[in-house]
Amino acid sequence: MTNSSIGVDLGGTNLRIAVVDPGGRLLEKVSLDTDVARGKDYAIGRMCEEVRRLQQKYQNAAALPAVGVGVPGIIDMRTGLLRGAENLPGWTDFHVGEEIEKGLGRPVFLENDANVAALGEKWLGASREVDDMAMFTLGTGVGGAIVLGGRIWHGMTGMAGEFGHMTVEPGGVLCTCGSQGCLEMYASATAIVRLAREAMAAGPAPGLARAAGSDQGLSAKAVCDLARNGDEDASAVVGRAGRYLGIGIANMVTTLNLPMYVIGGGVSRAWDLLAPPVFEQLQHYSLVYAATKPASPGIKSTGAGANIESRGPTKTIVVPAELGGDAGLYGAARLAMMSA
Ligand SMILES: [Zn+2]
Repeated sequence: MTNSSIGVDLGGTNLRIAVVDPGGRLLEKVSLDTDVARGKDYAIGRMCEEVRRLQQKYQNAAALPAVGVGVPGIIDMRTGLLRGAENLPGWTDFHVGEEIEKGLGRPVFLENDANVAALGEKWLGASREVDDMAMFTLGTGVGGAIVLGGRIWHGMTGMAGEFGHMTVEPGGVLCTCGSQGCLEMYASATAIVRLAREAMAAGPAPGLARAAGSDQGLSAKAVCDLARNGDEDASAVVGRAGRYLGIGIANMVTTLNLPMYVIGGGVSRAWDLLAPPVFEQLQHYSLVYAATKPASPGIKSTGAGANIESRGPTKTIVVPAELGGDAGLYGAARLAMMSA
């Protein structure tokens, strides 16, 4: 692992590429506002063009930098097929890895976007001092990942850790996956907006109605900002999302008994609001959490070193992610380093 590597974050709206050295230093970052709607051939063509340029620029005597790619969807590890990529219309059941390899003329390493984000947090973020962790990524949907011994736990076919599709409300809202009451339907950015609309339909909610009528419209961020400023209706919505998230985390704490659970994605910026209901539910629903909870739970991120040291090595730590939107980019680069 002496060579730098290239991480690609293939998002639904933009495509980012980073060159990272083995010490985790960012050497170069490129953001292509690739219109994924123009089709996969166009997006992959632009990506390969840029990756080839960076590979030439950063190659050394050892080799060209290896390439890791984070993809939003479930990758069948046996066949390389991309499944359930709702944010990349037209990409489902597509051999994405094979196509990129054709474009680059050499192998690439592929992972689900939640998995690379977890690898990034494990390498340089909140989990850098533990070997085993799980991550919940709260974005448009809810992603999940399990890291054991520093490596992604794939399960039999690569579908392990789909935390967003665990049932938290039997018979609840219909999910894009075909099931009902999935965590994604209650704790994602999309879910927070839907819960806010439900609150507005159920009775007067003037703060939410004002936000909905503004130029920016109703967003998860707007709901969280209102809640932070004391709006009762918005607080009830965020509290509900937090309680469902808490149930989901409680199930994983009870099942996996890992030392750390990291909460990332855009919605995790509201961790100050989500944490109180999350810890309440953890205490209530997980005997494993109750038996291993730290003296002070992680409402504020204090850095992994401080967490482990001050809370003890046999405590269950639940903390917000530290790398923000770059976790997947660093994780994809790390994936390439570990795999090459
Ligand atoms: Zn689902």
